[in-house]
Amino acid sequence: MTSFENSIAAYKEAVKLMPGGVNSPVRAYKNVDMDPIFIERGKNQNLYDIDGNSYIDYVLSWGPLILGHADDTVIAALKDTIDKGTSFGAPTLLETKIAKLVQKFVPSMEMMRMVSSGTEATMSAVRLARGYTKRDKIVKFIGCYHGHSDSLLVDAGSGMATFDINTSPGVPKNVALETYTVPYNDEAAITDLFKRHGDEIAGVIVEPVAGNMGFVPGHESFLKTLRKLTEDYGSVLIFDEVMSGFRCDMKGAQHLYGITPDLTTLGKVIGGGLPVGTFGGKREIMKNITPDGKVYHAGTLSGNPLAMMAGIKTLEQLNEEKYADMSAKLDRLCTALKAAADKNGVPFTIRHRGTMWGYFFNNGPVENFDDVQKSDKEYFTRFFQYVIKRGIYLAPSPYETSFISTKHTDADIDKTIEVFSDAFANVQ
Ligand code: PLP
Repeated sequence: MTSFENSIAAYKEAVKLMPGGVNSPVRAYKNVDMDPIFIERGKNQNLYDIDGNSYIDYVLSWGPLILGHADDTVIAALKDTIDKGTSFGAPTLLETKIAKLVQKFVPSMEMMRMVSSGTEATMSAVRLARGYTKRDKIVKFIGCYHGHSDSLLVDAGSGMATFDINTSPGVPKNVALETYTVPYNDEAAITDLFKRHGDEIAGVIVEPVAGNMGFVPGHESFLKTLRKLTEDYGSVLIFDEVMSGFRCDMKGAQHLYGITPDLTTLGKVIGGGLPVGTFGGKREIMKNITPDGKVYHAGTLSGNPLAMMAGIKTLEQLNEEKYADMSAKLDRLCTALKAAADKNGVPFTIRHRGTMWGYFFNNGPVENFDDVQKSDKEYFTRFFQYVIKRGIYLAPSPYETSFISTKHTDADIDKTIEVFSDAFANVQ
């Protein structure tokens, strides 16, 4: 029997000090009726908790750890770097090095700025779009999540969807009114919005492959429509690739679909597990950032040397061969899981793109947030509780995406198929 005794005791202490006992809401396991599991360490594809349980990890710190936990090369480079100091608040060679590397993967980022989180990246990109166009309105899509800045916490996914919050209390009404929201993958709705308000729209921000309402890839024609409308109306198209970057394809969704946005935001993988984000794009737009222009952006720890080094040593190890291998493993996993669900009469939709994968407990189609909500959330809770006790670590919410790392093996895939199949047979 799996015991979570130590985690339960640790949680009792944590809730006295932190709201929900955690520093980010979905970690609290509230919607899966459990106390959260406290982690002691991770190595490669595995997590180890403070009760001595081990797990095959498909969360990977919510996406960043494409090389798995504590990759030997990343850790060795960090040990070297830390001996030189932790932060200088002055330029280092590492910042230029990572910018050049990022550009190799995402050439549309002619210039960029490093920040310390995805939230900072999207918040700064939105401000830049507004400053550049001298317009105030922005458009986002229902169920997409772009971090927790005010303008973007409207009809958002991830924890907002998990805890059924449309717009957070504390976001001023007037700020929320500057954000138009439109259903994802709905070409007619966005075309109609542009017809009515196109001249006021500073920018459109989109997860081109959405991972925060569960896993819902954008339709190519939808993304092309966004490109065309923003061009026609002089608005800035922002691809938020904080999650999809280095994930749905080694070179991101913009490479997968062959669509070039004006600005891109990245995070997660780019920091190799340390706090990093970046935003960048067309030189003509980026040169409006301070000190060249007047759109303000700054950060005490932006471009932090440890974070830069973790990112560099992660990106340097990526290649097409590794992506083909991860994708083939997910092909096998998704095909087998669908067959197992069908065999047991469990309604199930499962997909992957590159190294991202996700599933819903309905038979689809699942193309937007309305469809996502038709998934059986009560079944998800029971399913989650079953598989975690069998050593499969998934995100504790039906509104999240799963990942794979270069360290996951064929044996891990076999074990996952076995546990999911048993769950389909036993969870009512
Ligand atoms: N944008 C997307 C697409 C994300 O998935 C996330 C986080 O999950 C963010 C932005 C915010 O990033 P962070 O949590 O690093 O602030």
